[in-house]
Order: sequence, then structure tokens, then C-alpha cells
Amino acid sequence: MATNLPSHPTSGNESDGYWMHYHDQDSEKLADAVIEYALDRIRLDPPPLDGPKTLSQLQALVGNTITAEGLGGLRALEIFTTQLSRACISVDHPSFLSFIPGAPTESAVLFDLVLSASNIYGGSWLESSGAVYAENQALQWVASLANFPKTSSGVFVSGGTAGNLSALIVARWKWRQRGKGAYDRMRPLLVASSGAHSSVALAANAMDADIVRVTADAQGRMSGANLRQTIANLDEQDRHRICAIVATSGTTNLGVIDDLVAAGEQARVLSTWFHVDGAYGAAALCAPSVRHLFIGIERADSFIVDPHKWLFGPFDCCALIYRDPETARLAHTQRAEYLEVLQQHDLGDALANPSDMAHHLSRRARGLPFWFSVATHGTEAYEEAMEITLQITRETAQLIKNSEYLELLLEPELSIVVFRRTGWSPDQYQQWSDKMLNEGRAFVVPTTWNGETLLRLCFINPRTTIEEVSDILNSLN
Ligand SMILES: *Cc1c(COP(=O)(O)O)cnc(C)c1O
Repeated sequence: MATNLPSHPTSGNESDGYWMHYHDQDSEKLADAVIEYALDRIRLDPPPLDGPKTLSQLQALVGNTITAEGLGGLRALEIFTTQLSRACISVDHPSFLSFIPGAPTESAVLFDLVLSASNIYGGSWLESSGAVYAENQALQWVASLANFPKTSSGVFVSGGTAGNLSALIVARWKWRQRGKGAYDRMRPLLVASSGAHSSVALAANAMDADIVRVTADAQGRMSGANLRQTIANLDEQDRHRICAIVATSGTTNLGVIDDLVAAGEQARVLSTWFHVDGAYGAAALCAPSVRHLFIGIERADSFIVDPHKWLFGPFDCCALIYRDPETARLAHTQRAEYLEVLQQHDLGDALANPSDMAHHLSRRARGLPFWFSVATHGTEAYEEAMEITLQITRETAQLIKNSEYLELLLEPELSIVVFRRTGWSPDQYQQWSDKMLNEGRAFVVPTTWNGETLLRLCFINPRTTIEEVSDILNSLN
């Protein structure tokens, strides 16, 4: 600890307004405590599962924390470490198998701390060329997995929801351009599967677009036949309104992949945009055993994948990639007197400012923890970790098939397993799920498919073992 730091009176807190931006003896103590806690949390293997508390429980345990005088950092930290953090489920717990869990690598988490300490404005090349350079290399790796051309580029946004919206705004811009004025007062139309993620409907809503739904087939996929039929059923006028076809490479509920070749072909026939939502599943592009399922993604105009899901990065991070970044720049660049300097700046080989690639301006260089982890471990480690999660998925499917009281509904394509506990009502599923969470054993919530309540496990954490899964399945007996 540095001892020659200034100290300021700890009572008579009126001086905090001055001191809170300076490093002094008090903040040195706080820094040690914060870093020590962060490292302890990183070392937990596994972390406690923890769980939600009610508002009144939290009010009783924590009370009010915002005061005129301040609590002091050590007290505020203690409230977080002993109360608040315990009321947040640990997504990286190996038995967190609900929704899409998160399992960031240690290097990615460590670098997240560095990123915060570095105070980088990640919106422009002028202000953060070094960060953007590294983020772009990470994006290039992701783009290369999809066999996108070297000229493709993109940006890291907060999540799949922001990524889908930003990509579809570009699609609409391109469609309006193509209309040369004829489409200016027309509502755009998106074509998407009934299995598409809810964020596609949210994007349509934000863009005042309509969606025509392609009914997913018996396996939950958008098939070429159903897609062609849906488009053929539209009248001529509506076909002109199609600004994008959205396919999903790894649906969130079932983990299945749409017919990407057919979707790309229909987009080509209609001269419209082809977007692939790979927020969850496109991470598996780097896994040799399932790479072939993604054939057709190379035809997309844009695609997304969330490193905060299955690419082992921390929240919040989505890689959004465009085949033709110039179109994205034209659709998204904000113009203002005070921002003109960013457009005039010599960009060298950089394609554009990150802020010009999506619906945002200020941004954290949120791709850096992911970049650091890939740079540290190399891409082969990602392939291997991905295969570990795919393997545990296959072993889980086998355990379910061998069981007398469980029924596998679908052979898993990626890392999601959906199955039935024979004879259970929706209430029984929910009671079991609550019990597992209350006991700190596992977090598995029910889902529904075709109106039936079922169980769903999503594997993205290489630290999940088959013994843990087996324990969960046994508890359903
Ligand atoms: C998770 C998911 C999204 C939304 O991503 P967020 O990062 O939660 O906003 C979109 N599409 C698919 C297929 C997803 O799995």
C-alpha cells in the first residue's frame, strides 16, 4: 500500500465532493477491498447458486442506501457482497441450465476489470483506435467462421436484441433506397419463422414494420418449403414490402437451425436483405462437429452472435457483422455539428467508427474482454470448449432416452435439450424447479412448446459435468 498518499478527514464528509475524484488513503483501502473481492469471486468454483429475494425481504435486509452523506465505500461494498450479490443467481454456476446461461473465461472477466479502469470511449476511431483495432480483429475471426468476405465488418453492441434491431434498420434503409421513392410511405415487411426470437417482433414494432410468420415445421425449424409457400401466398404488393428475411441459426427454445440455404435463396430471388439471428447458436460455427449445420450463413447480408452467451464472454456483448459495412454506415451515422470531426478524421484501413454501425452513439469497448480471451487462449481452445458442451448435451440426451420417466422430444442439434417428465402437470414442473433453486442445487425453469409445459436444459458452460446433470435428472424421479 502506498503510504505517501494524501488523506482527508473522514468525518465532516462535506469534503467528499472534492476528494471523491482523487486517490487517497481511504480509496487505497477501498481499492484493495474491491480487488480482493473480485478475485475471490473469480476463484469460486463453483460460485453459490444464490437466488431472488422479494422486495420486502431486500428492504428489510438492505434498507435505503442512497443518503446525503454517503455510506462509505467499505460499507457499500459489504452490502453488495453480503446481501445484494446473494440475491442474484450466478449464471456461471455449472447447474444454471435455464434460458441461455453465461460462462465467461477467467481472462475475459479479468480484462473486463481492465476495460473499466481504462475509461475508453469506444464510439470512434479518433478516440479509441487501439481498442477498435483489437475489437475488429475479434469481429474478423467471427466473420471468418461464417465465411464472410474480408471486407465485411461490424461492431459489438449490447446484446442480440440491439443487434437484430440495428441490422434490420439497415435492411429497411437498403429496401427504401431500392424503391427510389416508391417505398417511402410504405410499411416494411419482415419474413420470420414462428420460432424466431421475440426480439425480432420487438424490432418490427420499433420500426413500425409488419411481420409475416412462416410456420415452423415439426422440428421447430423454418423449412425452405414453408418459407417459399408463405412468400408465394403474399400478394404482389406485399412482396414488394419485404425488407428482410430473418432466419435463426439456433432457436432459443429448441436450439434448432432454420434452412439457411433456402432463406438466402429466397432473399436473392426477391433482391432483399438476408439476416441470420445467431445470438445463441452461431457460436457453434467454430465447432467442427456441427459446422455443416450452418451452411448458407455465408450468403447472409448480416448476422449476429452473442459472445456473452456461448462464446464465453461477460455481459453485455453481441457481435453484429455486415457483409457490406458501408450500407450500415449510411443507415446509422448520426450527423451533428459537434460530430463532423469524426467523419473527417483519416480512418486509414478502419472501415468506420463503431458508433456508425448500429443504433447507438456512446459505447463501451465491450468487445475487448472477448478479444482478450481469444487472443490469450487462441481459437483452438474455443473449438475444444465448444465441443465439450456439445458432448455433454449428447450424453444428456442419451440419459433421458434411457430413463423410464423422461421422454426426449427432439434430438438436440446444438446444446439445448427439451424433454418431458411423464405425467407431470405444469404446477409439478414449477414446484420442482422452485425446490431445486431454493436448495441451491440447480436452476432449471420449465418452458412450453406447442402449448405443452416441458423442461429445457441449455449447455454452454464447459464446467458442467454429466454427474451434475445426472443428479438433476434423478431428482425428477
Ligand atoms: C438471446 C437471443 C436473442 C436476444 O439476445 P439478448 O442478448 O438477450 O438481447 C436474440 N435472438 C436469439 C436467437 C437469442 O437466443
